Amino acid sequence: MNILTNHLPTAELQRIDAAHHMHPFTGGDALAKKGARIITRADGMMLTDSDGREVLDMMAGLWCVNIGYGRHELAEAAYRQMKELPYYNTFFQTSHVPVIALSQKLAELAPEPFNQTFFAASGSEANDTNIRLVRQYWAAVGKPDKKIIISRKNAYHGSTMGGGSLGGMAHMHSQGGLPIENIVHIDQPHWWAEGGDMTPEEFGLLRARQLEEEIDRLGEGNVAAFIAEPIQGAGGVVIPPETYWPEIQRICDAREILLIADEVILGFGRTGRWFGSEYYGIRPDIMTIAKGLSSGYAPIGGSMVSDRVAKVIAESDFNHGYTYSGHPVSCAVALENLRIMEEESLLDHVNQIAAPALAKAIATFEDHPLIGEARSLGMLGALQFTPDKSRRAPFKAPKGTIGEIARDACFANDIVMRHVGDRMIVSPPLIMTEADTEVFVDRATRALDQTYDKAKAEGLLEAA
Ligand SMILES: *Cc1c(COP(=O)(O)O)cnc(C)c1O
Repeated sequence: MNILTNHLPTAELQRIDAAHHMHPFTGGDALAKKGARIITRADGMMLTDSDGREVLDMMAGLWCVNIGYGRHELAEAAYRQMKELPYYNTFFQTSHVPVIALSQKLAELAPEPFNQTFFAASGSEANDTNIRLVRQYWAAVGKPDKKIIISRKNAYHGSTMGGGSLGGMAHMHSQGGLPIENIVHIDQPHWWAEGGDMTPEEFGLLRARQLEEEIDRLGEGNVAAFIAEPIQGAGGVVIPPETYWPEIQRICDAREILLIADEVILGFGRTGRWFGSEYYGIRPDIMTIAKGLSSGYAPIGGSMVSDRVAKVIAESDFNHGYTYSGHPVSCAVALENLRIMEEESLLDHVNQIAAPALAKAIATFEDHPLIGEARSLGMLGALQFTPDKSRRAPFKAPKGTIGEIARDACFANDIVMRHVGDRMIVSPPLIMTEADTEVFVDRATRALDQTYDKAKAEGLLEAA
């Protein structure tokens, strides 16, 4: 088999990596000192690194390997497609079988009124497409002033100029002149961090109503759309209060704006439904998809467009597209991924086995001395660190200090969890079994106990 195997010692691979590879969201010098962990292969939800260590991947790569690693059917689908037709574009009065089949499949899986998909190679690109789509929609119906897109602080919608601008990540906006024009951000429904003395229900309503206030402030005639992840992922697995989405939907129904649900993480089973919008009963006009669509085996993203919007866009040329829109190999891989999900009833597995097992595992951390909130929904979970549970207090130490200690402890204990500030998050493959959750609890407990001990020894458990 013609695969890249590791013939070099780890230190040499790390040296070459540091010399020639610029990593995303990383300080190169700091990484060069530590050395990158080099993953050589993976199976199920277990990664193997260049030293032969087996690491439990509680993040499904970057929230994407929903069916788990090592499914050769997807490799074979890619191989067959590459031999048959490795590439053709879909621009000039042309189409091909994989993109036709995948578009049809997506229309079948998505709720009405979603029957059309515009393809991209990533979630960021798809959200860039969405900016063009919603502005073109309003221009085409004679309302060209409706350009502003309202998003939320601490949202993640990708890393291109458009995606990064839609997102509300302060550390991204502080570099490179983001956000671009006509994108504004309201507050997020993060009750644990920002809810103060309010009940989650009161707080959810208050934060949702900011959308209405913002529309009034900007003038309804200037607002094109509101974009949101039904559950914020990269922002820290922020599960909104139950009152939030019904109120947002009420406002979107009452006002003349489009609703974009960014389903890049939630789409394809993470909540136990095909789409997170179905879980929350949201009726968006556009849904962004990527990640789980191909379980990360090939790059693909897209904008699923409702009939109302698609009809208007179709009336004239839409001057937008990517070389790899509807790439045949990615489409073939995505189709095979969806076939496996359906034939193996992966959503039933999530609802009946994996999500309850993850919920039970996450709940075991509720009493941990470092943890103030242990929550999961579907195959997403969050563990919030706090020095004072009753006050939901942050640490006196700079934000992320304890989170980083925990991340290091996860490395040392062969488990991947991600830290967002002082919050650990998980988003495991949907194939997770009860046995896997035992490995998770075992390794995470060790990592969190070590984190607590270290934080205590260094006097970092003081509340702000
Ligand atoms: C990952 C992500 C994106 C960006 O997708 P890329 O494929 O990395 O460009 C957009 N939105 C959400 C919610 C994401 O989690």
